[in-house]
Amino acid sequence: MYNITDILLIGSDHKGELMADFNKILDAGDVAGGVVNVVIEIGTGSQLKVEWNRKKAIFELDRVEPGIFAKPCNYGFIPQTLDDDGDELDALIICNEPIATGVVVQGKIIGILNFEDDGEMDHKVVVVPADDRHNGDSVNSLDDLSPALLKQLEHHFSHYKDLKKPGSTNVQGWGNIEDAKAIIAECQERWDKEA
Ligand SMILES: [Mg+2]
Repeated sequence: MYNITDILLIGSDHKGELMADFNKILDAGDVAGGVVNVVIEIGTGSQLKVEWNRKKAIFELDRVEPGIFAKPCNYGFIPQTLDDDGDELDALIICNEPIATGVVVQGKIIGILNFEDDGEMDHKVVVVPADDRHNGDSVNSLDDLSPALLKQLEHHFSHYKDLKKPGSTNVQGWGNIEDAKAIIAECQERWDKEA
């Protein structure tokens, strides 16, 4: 049983054992085997730019996006990784349904979006749920996604900061599964060194 003091301290630095710190509970997953752990931050269609704050181990609302920049797919991060931009490596979870913030997904790696934000690489690993009887089971690489969806994703990441900081984002194209695994491994090494 927790007393009221414990409960009030949830989210502070003092009672780490009470918090769901995803970077302590989970690692990146079976990267070589092609399946990563992804923690959902934003569900498909949401305008809420929710971000995981790893220092406090809480989700925070960073900003509310304009409707035209609602997320075109589920969005989250891979635990125990750090990308060039100093944050956990991001992931796009392609799934017919919006997935709630905080849900952990086993993601089958299908590729990567090479993306630069303000001069720093901010890759987006692309996954589908490892067990998805609706769609994902027939998706094994980016080639299995519709060209329209790929274009929509490129468009989103090229323009979602247009009203805030125009010209700061740069979509550099797609990579395959091996490219994705190599970047994840790099980001795991950075985590081991810097986190
Ligand atoms: Mg990022």
